[in-house]
Amino acid sequence: MEKTDVFSLDGEYIASTYARFGVNIVSGKGSILKGGDGKEYIDLGAGIATNVFGACDDTWIRAVTDQLAKIQHASNLYYTDPGPRLARLLCEKTGMKKVFFCNSGAEANECAIKTARKWAAEHLGAEYHTVVTLKNSFHGRTLATLAATGQDVFHRDFLPLTPGFAYAEPNDSADLERVMEENKCAALLIETVQGEGGVNVLTDSFVADAAALTKKYGALLMVDEVQTGNGRCGAMYSYMNYGIAPDVVSTAKGLGGGLPIGATMFGERTADVLTPGTHGSTFGGNPVCCAGAESVVSRLDEDLFAAVRKKSEMIFEKLSGKPGITGVHGRGLMIGADVTGDVKAVVKGCIERGALVLSAKNRVRLTPALNIPEDVLSRGLDIVAEAAAEAAEA
Ligand SMILES: *Cc1c(COP(=O)(O)O)cnc(C)c1O
Repeated sequence: MEKTDVFSLDGEYIASTYARFGVNIVSGKGSILKGGDGKEYIDLGAGIATNVFGACDDTWIRAVTDQLAKIQHASNLYYTDPGPRLARLLCEKTGMKKVFFCNSGAEANECAIKTARKWAAEHLGAEYHTVVTLKNSFHGRTLATLAATGQDVFHRDFLPLTPGFAYAEPNDSADLERVMEENKCAALLIETVQGEGGVNVLTDSFVADAAALTKKYGALLMVDEVQTGNGRCGAMYSYMNYGIAPDVVSTAKGLGGGLPIGATMFGERTADVLTPGTHGSTFGGNPVCCAGAESVVSRLDEDLFAAVRKKSEMIFEKLSGKPGITGVHGRGLMIGADVTGDVKAVVKGCIERGALVLSAKNRVRLTPALNIPEDVLSRGLDIVAEAAAEAAEA
């Protein structure tokens, strides 16, 4: 008999790059998602930190569908309304000067890397082309961002790596200085909280040292805010929690509230590095994605960040010291919990009990919608605690 269910079709026709869980998400509202079998799930992952205001937020839907009914795409040969408005909003909220729009986090980082190389060639000399990144980082899956990613497990099978990258230990200022000293550096690229690397928060002193070292060695300071950004860490961008002033900021994931859009933002020193013909993207600045992002970014304010920080405290309180949980890490609504049981078993246990959570390395990772109601979050955390306790006994 021919199989037409989503699981069989996916198995037969979709390239096998994902180890999926057996849930087919068919609809959702806010932080409650519905599976194809009618089962409901509390969503503590929000599409990997993307659905900032949860599933099918009414304000966001209106912004997206209004634009969809006007013009869906025009190409970058012409002007469309939402992109420049969104860029202005981003600049107003960050103090950055200009924005390049693309479609994903990897592309936002590609643009940052290209900018660093061009800036360094013009200001330092062509031999200053190394971009220093941190071990355990994640910057994307294109060939250049794969090389920027400081984890060998992603490199394997895809050698030779794109040259021009060097890696330093996170939270080790002496090692960072050694790497910057040994290489002719164009830029330093960091995530302030390493997401895919297991939710590792960089310390205040390391980030301050990193900023100082970029000044000492004349390199650009670039921050990858693909996952940490757009309110996720209790500030507009996570770098703001550290009081640093980056030259380049990349973001994506949460920016579009669930639509594919990435942005690379440029400060004073880098605003005019990219010139006509040096970079581009067919879909970059797509008006529908920009309208969705405008709806998201215009609502990222101090009240929301305060609520994010409050819910963050609630997660720390509710999970710390629970059976099977040995530590809670992270910032804002980007949390990683150390579990004594198998992390995949915890994720599966959560699914069985009706909650969707993520993992990162051997930590259970939680990145719920920023507007998740406290009672829904609380119920979700009870499920995480139960699943962690059960996995610990297995
Ligand atoms: C997810 C992620 C990326 C890659 O984003 P894509 O949209 O998947 O290309 C890059 N950097 C960080 C920090 C990320 O978390």
